[in-house]
Amino acid sequence: MIHQPIVLIVDDEPSNIEMLAAMLDDQYELRFAVSGHDALIAMKELPKPDLILLDVMLPDMNGYAICERIKDDPLCANIPVIFVTSLGDPEQEEKGFAVGGADYIVKPCRALSIKARIRNQLEMKRTRELLHRLAITDALTGLANRRHFDEALKQEAQRLQRQGGQLSLVLIDVDFFKRYNDSYGHPAGDECLRRIAAVITTELRRPADLTARIGGEEFACLLPETTLAGAYVVAERIRQTVQALAMPHQASTISEFVTVSVGVAVSNGTDPSHLYQRADIQLYIAKTSGRNCVVQDELALI
Ligand code: GH3
Ligand code: MG
Ligand code: MG
Repeated sequence: MIHQPIVLIVDDEPSNIEMLAAMLDDQYELRFAVSGHDALIAMKELPKPDLILLDVMLPDMNGYAICERIKDDPLCANIPVIFVTSLGDPEQEEKGFAVGGADYIVKPCRALSIKARIRNQLEMKRTRELLHRLAITDALTGLANRRHFDEALKQEAQRLQRQGGQLSLVLIDVDFFKRYNDSYGHPAGDECLRRIAAVITTELRRPADLTARIGGEEFACLLPETTLAGAYVVAERIRQTVQALAMPHQASTISEFVTVSVGVAVSNGTDPSHLYQRADIQLYIAKTSGRNCVVQDELALI
């Protein structure tokens, strides 16, 4: 069964809640909060609400303040908030939009109109989410794309500088891939990239790890809280598993099968901006020292 969108109704007046619930409960999974305090807890409950209907006058906080809190929280800011209130004057409405409200419904309002306005907001949220997903996904492999990787690297580097710890980066490049395309054709090349992407995904086991396709036949794994030794183990496992797929590569001069070269580096937070560059140098060394191998940043071992 397709899950129904979750609508959180925030109102301290039982008759309002009943009226909205009767209108909406056949199409939506409903949750309720009767105070600002409850609303701020309910907005974080997983799975999070898809939309919030918010009364303006509540016993402990006003709806505008609640909306501001929702919009200030990066994990909830994308939830559309519709004010449903009897305060009809323009200043109130203006305030509702100013604090980030998506819509402002003045009671009494016809059920048909309320339902349509909820449907519109949910539709826009779905479209926004879809576009966002597409913008950060590589179409060929379904992995994160370069844009997502760059953003994640920046965020992880910032986190490292704040909190310390270790951030490792693994860069993987397919060996003689131009020749692979030349021998077997571009569609076969694409299929080969998909299979390698699947290997990398299965070899990464922690939820915080990120796998991305960052170039034509180049992949990256960003491994938070991972030492160089830990990243090396992952990298070596990926290299071996790709080789064990035994995808024939007749034009390769180093193996009868498709292989990858891998560069690994770690940052401890003192200079995370060089992490990518250092991993890339290791990858270059792996290429020039024969390919089908993993090279780690020796400097980081000191
Ligand atoms: P090396 O071992 O030094 O890495 O050699 P290489 O041939 O793998 O490296 P090079 O950078 O010269 O060539 C990369 C090739 O990857 C070029 C292109 O034919 C292929 N490629 C890039 N993107 C795609 C893609 O999306 N699909 C396919 N099938 N091939 C791609
Ligand atoms: Mg390359
Ligand atoms: Mg290559």
